[in-house]
Amino acid sequence: MRKYIVAGNWKMNKSLPEGIQLAKEVNAAVETAGALKCDVIIAPSFLHLTEVSKVVGKKVSVSAQNCAAEASGAFTGEVSAAMLQSAGIPYTIIGHSERRSYYGDTDAILAKKTGQALANGLKVIFCIGEELSQRDSGKHFDVVKGQLENGLFQLSVNELKNIVIAYEPVWAIGTGRTASSGQAQEVHAFIRKTLADKYGQAAADDVTILYGGSCNENNATELFSQPDIDGGLIGGASLVADKFIKIVTAF
Ligand code: PEP
Repeated sequence: MRKYIVAGNWKMNKSLPEGIQLAKEVNAAVETAGALKCDVIIAPSFLHLTEVSKVVGKKVSVSAQNCAAEASGAFTGEVSAAMLQSAGIPYTIIGHSERRSYYGDTDAILAKKTGQALANGLKVIFCIGEELSQRDSGKHFDVVKGQLENGLFQLSVNELKNIVIAYEPVWAIGTGRTASSGQAQEVHAFIRKTLADKYGQAAADDVTILYGGSCNENNATELFSQPDIDGGLIGGASLVADKFIKIVTAF
């Protein structure tokens, strides 16, 4: 049975003291919320990871936002999956659209990053999603399928167990323009079908597929009520503990 997850992607926001404060607030809110239907993850910057890990309890997991494609060596400025693993970080996001578009993370690079993460025992939140022009020209299903085939389909069915997929239409990220629940569900169902065709229905049914893109405390319940939407990857609304906890409790 797949898990519901709400993950907050803090991106390049918050000083270290601010990040520790936000993590404490999220942790306190999660503790007082009682039994939750979802797992909660927060993804601060690399710099914050170890300090944030110290101030959250068992109900909040910590994720990196990226990891290196190589194992180690002369790669200035990079952080390896092995480093993350050694710091006790259980998750990393890979393939966020900002990494794809600003930092040249191609499908081939993302496949290598995913391999590094899994080889070091990390779980991966793997992001896919089409740009506005691709949606407008009706290519969104092909785009998403290509990202899955080229970024993930090198994995075995066993490795797939450590993958969470985040469908994030690029036109909805940080724009305030959310995909309708119908639009999102349609693509989530397509992603699950694509996984089922490759790995079998049982394996596909076990994969958590998150929606991301201007998901907030007002639209989360409607989005999460869809049968193939298993939670959210949240950007802007994860930077305010009150908003984030409303999304966490929106199931
Ligand atoms: C994101 O960047 O992963 C994201 C979903 O951002 P926002 O919620 O701000 O649209």
